[in-house]
Amino acid sequence: MGALMPDPTHTGSTWWCEHAWLGDDTISSSVMISVAGGRITSIAPNTHPPRSARVLKGLVVPGMANAHSHAFHRALRGRTQRDRGTFWTWRDLMYRTADRLDPDSYRLLARGVYAEMALAGITAVGEFHYLHHGPNGRPYADPNAMGKALVDGAADAGVRLTLLDTCYLSSGVDGAPLAPGPQQRFGDGSGDAWAGRTESLRQDLSERTDVIVGAAVHSVRGVPREHIPAVVEWSNSHAAPLHVHSSEQTAEVDQCIAVHGCTPTALLRDVGALGPRTTAVHATHLTDADLADLDRTATGVCFCPTTERDLGDGIGPAPQLLDSAGLFSLGSDSHAVIDLFEEARAVELDERLARRERGVFTASRLLGAATTDGQHALGWTDAGRISVGERADFVAVDLGSIRTAGCGPTLETAVFAATATDVTDVVIDGRHIVADRRHHSIDDPAGELGQCISALMDTGAPQKEPAR
Ligand SMILES: [Zn+2]
Repeated sequence: MGALMPDPTHTGSTWWCEHAWLGDDTISSSVMISVAGGRITSIAPNTHPPRSARVLKGLVVPGMANAHSHAFHRALRGRTQRDRGTFWTWRDLMYRTADRLDPDSYRLLARGVYAEMALAGITAVGEFHYLHHGPNGRPYADPNAMGKALVDGAADAGVRLTLLDTCYLSSGVDGAPLAPGPQQRFGDGSGDAWAGRTESLRQDLSERTDVIVGAAVHSVRGVPREHIPAVVEWSNSHAAPLHVHSSEQTAEVDQCIAVHGCTPTALLRDVGALGPRTTAVHATHLTDADLADLDRTATGVCFCPTTERDLGDGIGPAPQLLDSAGLFSLGSDSHAVIDLFEEARAVELDERLARRERGVFTASRLLGAATTDGQHALGWTDAGRISVGERADFVAVDLGSIRTAGCGPTLETAVFAATATDVTDVVIDGRHIVADRRHHSIDDPAGELGQCISALMDTGAPQKEPAR
């Protein structure tokens, strides 16, 4: 296979994989991969490991992308199920959490959540970020302090971040203002004000090679129609990813039809928000016309099956969407679990339950959603594949754990048998972030995360307004 010139500013390294997925449906063995400047410079299967090589045992797959995350929802795990837990239990607790975070505690929480992702083989995360301001909506001295807390948390964990800065202005499809209380922290007042703040964040982070600032429209509930074009224009002017929650629940679709006379997808089409850089998150309740619009505009979708089942949202039309022109990515959204293997297999298993028939998608297509499509949906168009010139992201999956023993070095083992705990090693941009299930710089991620969530949820109090 071809070789690129090594970048002299980085030390090169050589990795040797017992087995590796290099694309298509096949697994290659004894694969030597050379890396320079954080990128793959050569790949040679059927090679003896040179003495200098770092060995990755098991099955090596490309870095996975968690295309839809709300980091602070991780604090609700386990708690929102108490007393059975309705949608409203979940939402009340979510707002209580939002009320208690400040930039310092948010950085600690994000560091732990993103460390959990790194340990699960996630090399890039798309953070759908709307907790912008202090209590009562008063901006911090740096109005992007909360976004920068997420940037710092991701850097601590060694994970690339696409910060999808989210415009969130209203509390209903009818344009009702944000409610008093925690919702006030989400709003910028207008699409133009959102664009001004987000542009200054982009400029502050323009030197970073591990962060992309993207855009998000919260939903047709969260942004009145007339404010969406400002977000679309900002994302177009920087060729930035644009994500939007869409058609998650039937109530949202019904309200949109009642107020605007069209579905959320049609509304997004009419304001110019659909296209290949756009990802419609959830896309659960779609009409045939919606599906045609998404296909014609090559708009991507992001399914979050473990959250959608946790909230009782429904099952989206995966077969049509996986056949569509747009990307099909996956996210853990509310972080009921963080396990991209689980998200990938859920797409197939949900479809089996719905149609009472097996074998709808191949394991390679499902793993492609968790890797290539996800990385591309987050703007990392040079990641998600093990091939020359791509970013050196590798995830080694243990083939000898109690879950995977005897399954064999196949993609089906990764997608249908492995869990996040079977990830032993994670390389991100050529850096060995997780080795033998241990994070390279955070000694006790579980202890840190537990302490942080307990301080927030068990003894924490609502934050005070930032000083003027
Ligand atoms: Zn979401």
